[in-house]
Amino acid sequence: MIPFFNYSELFKQNQSEYLKIIEDVCSRGAFILQSDLEEFEKNAAEFINVKNFIGVANGTDAIWLGLKAAGIEKGDEIILPSHTYVASPAALHFVGARPVLTECGDDNMIDINDIEHRINEKTKAIMPVQINGRCCDMEAIYNIASKYNLQIFEDSAQAFGAKYNNRFAGTFGLFGTFSFYPAKLLGCFGDGGALVTNDDDLAKKVRLLRDHGRSQSGEVVEWGFNSRLDNLQAAILNFKLKSYPNDITRRRDIAMQYNNGLKDIKELILPPPPAYKPYFDVYQNYELRAEKRNELKIYLESEGIKTIIQWAGSPVHSFDKLGFKNISLPKTDSFFNKCLMLPINMTLSNDDVNKIILKINKFYE
Ligand SMILES: *Cc1c(COP(=O)(O)O)cnc(C)c1O
Repeated sequence: MIPFFNYSELFKQNQSEYLKIIEDVCSRGAFILQSDLEEFEKNAAEFINVKNFIGVANGTDAIWLGLKAAGIEKGDEIILPSHTYVASPAALHFVGARPVLTECGDDNMIDINDIEHRINEKTKAIMPVQINGRCCDMEAIYNIASKYNLQIFEDSAQAFGAKYNNRFAGTFGLFGTFSFYPAKLLGCFGDGGALVTNDDDLAKKVRLLRDHGRSQSGEVVEWGFNSRLDNLQAAILNFKLKSYPNDITRRRDIAMQYNNGLKDIKELILPPPPAYKPYFDVYQNYELRAEKRNELKIYLESEGIKTIIQWAGSPVHSFDKLGFKNISLPKTDSFFNKCLMLPINMTLSNDDVNKIILKINKFYE
């Protein structure tokens, strides 16, 4: 059996270190806004070269806290791809803004050519989603945003450590957000997230918003919420961050193996292989397009290989119960008829990868 993601095996890989961390943090009674969080925030900020890294309760909160701090409000419109998690438009919904959805481009990211004609006087920002551990074409997005005087907010939940032109995902616009959900690139043992920004004023607002509007001295200075990253989760993340560069290398290595083993199958369109310029991909997922996708998925399952269709097969514009009605995004629909994610994670062995490659080749023979 090759599971899509092996949560318990990942824990067991470093079990004794994790148990030591849990014992240390708990015996110090250091649970909320403590030194481990501060250290993680400092180290993670250095890692992606950003001024402010603020731990929050999860990646969804990170987006809407950022939107609130940026002053996004009822009636504002924000442009984002339909190929994203429902969390991205939900964050917009809860500040009263309208999500304006775009097509998915050939690189599976926001379709650069489907942004400009959706801009109007209500548009406040473009929210690229750095999906699958890859950055969007940030130069093109930056040029459009500058031309129309729009902000850029990055949902980089899936792209911690990814780069474009040597700049890290999350650091291109006014703010960027990350998720530390257990199956994410850098995962904790529950929910966790972060907002990053080079704007000190925005950072100050988000720090207030995440902790009941309380200033450093504990004085309540405005209305706030409770959305803090647990100190225990931060301690785990701080430990994992040390070996994170190795994780990235391993993921890129698996992606290269997939690329070499599958590139001659004409029924497949593979994601871009690891390349240094201008993209540096970290492969949260290995998402390809496959002819006879459903049959391939069933075949692999019968061979003990679990694959997943992202977002359970539903792009955001298909959620009619959320008010998305009569939205025509044919490129995205056709993508969702073919897309499939192969296992890529830190418990996958080279034998596993070879088996997956072999079976896929066998299926198309
Ligand atoms: C995981 C994810 C989120 C939400 O993060 P949570 O920590 O689960 O709240 C948002 N956007 C994208 C693209 C994601 O993959």
